[in-house]
Amino acid sequence: MLKDFIRPHILTLESYTSARDEFSGSADVYLDANENWMDFSQEGKNRYPDPHCTLLRREIERVMGFRMENTVIGNGSDELIDMLIRIFAVPGKDSVLIERPTYGEYKVFAEINDVSVINVPLTEDLDLDVVAIKKAIDEHSPKIVFICSPNNPTGRSYDAEKIREIASYNPSLTVIDEAYADFDPSFVSAYTLFSENERIAVLRTFSKYWALASSRLGILIASDTVIRAVNKIKAPYNVSLSAQRDGLKALGEIGERKEVLEKILSEKKRLTESLSRFPFVRKVYPSDANFILIKVDDADGLYRYLMEKGIIIRNRSREPLLENSLRITIGSREENDRLLEALCEREESTVS
Ligand SMILES: *Cc1c(COP(=O)(O)O)cnc(C)c1O
Repeated sequence: MLKDFIRPHILTLESYTSARDEFSGSADVYLDANENWMDFSQEGKNRYPDPHCTLLRREIERVMGFRMENTVIGNGSDELIDMLIRIFAVPGKDSVLIERPTYGEYKVFAEINDVSVINVPLTEDLDLDVVAIKKAIDEHSPKIVFICSPNNPTGRSYDAEKIREIASYNPSLTVIDEAYADFDPSFVSAYTLFSENERIAVLRTFSKYWALASSRLGILIASDTVIRAVNKIKAPYNVSLSAQRDGLKALGEIGERKEVLEKILSEKKRLTESLSRFPFVRKVYPSDANFILIKVDDADGLYRYLMEKGIIIRNRSREPLLENSLRITIGSREENDRLLEALCEREESTVS
C-alpha cells in the first residue's frame, strides 16, 4: 500500500487548524483570525484566503476534468514537488529517481531535503530507458520516481504505455509532471491511468499554457492517501486570494487561451523549419511543448551572440546528452522574427 511509503510521523502528525478550517460556513461578523477589519483593497484582501482553494478546484474539475476531491493547489508546482519529497523521503536515508536531462527542480528540492538522487539517463534519442529504470527501482527503492512528460528541456513526451509500465512496476509513488501537456492537443495524460493505480500522481501548472507564471499556481492530482498527506503538511494559506482569482479568471477564458495555442503551434512549425536551414544548426529536436531544443556547432558562442543582441535563450549544453544544445521558447511572431533576423546576420557574418 502506498500509505506504507509515507514517513510515519507525517501519518500521525497533528496539523495546524486555521481559523478558516474551524469555521468554514459564512457569517456576518468575523472576529476569529486577527485580521484588520478595514478592507483598504475593497476586494477582500484584508481577509485570509480559502486554504483549500475550493472555488478554483471546482472550476478546474469543470474545465479540465480532474475530480476536485483529488486535487490540491500549490504555490506553483515547485511547492508541490518539495512537499511530495518531504512526505515520502527520509533525509539522509532515502532517494528519489529522475531521468536526466530533465527539469532541474526535482534534484534541487531533493538535495535541499538531504535526499539522494538516482539518475537513470535517457536513451540516446532522449526516450525513457524502461529496463534501466526498473533495474534502478530494484536496486535503490526510490521513494518517488519523477517522470517529466513532455520533458523539459527536450520537448519530448513519452509513450503512455511506458509510463504505465514504470508506474505499475514501481511500488512507491510515481509523479508525472505534465507542465507542458496543454501544448500537445493529442497528449494522453497519466490521469487516465489514475483509476487503476493509486501510486500515480500528476502535476499541472498555470505557469505555461494558462499564462500565469507570476500568480504561482500548481495543481497536484493524486489519490486520497497523497492528498490527505499534502493537506496535512501544507502551509494553510499557501495560495493568495489574488492567485486564486487569477486562476478562476483564466479558466473562464479558455477560448482566448486556445487562440494563443494555435499561434504558438504555427510559430513552432515556422521556427522549426526556419532553424533547420541554418548551417550551424545540426539538429532541431521534435517538440510537444512550447519550446524547441536545437543542437548547434558552438552553443556557448551562439548563446553569447544572441545575448549581446538582447535575445535570451537557455543554454542547456552542460546537461548530459545535450552537448551544444540550446532551448528556445516559442515567443510572439515579432519576437521569433527578431531571433531569426539575428541568426541570419550571424550566418552572413560567418560566410563573408
Ligand atoms: C515550468 C515548469 C514547471 C512549473 O513550475 P511552477 O512552479 O508551477 O511555475 C513545472 N515543471 C516543469 C517541468 C516545468 O518546466
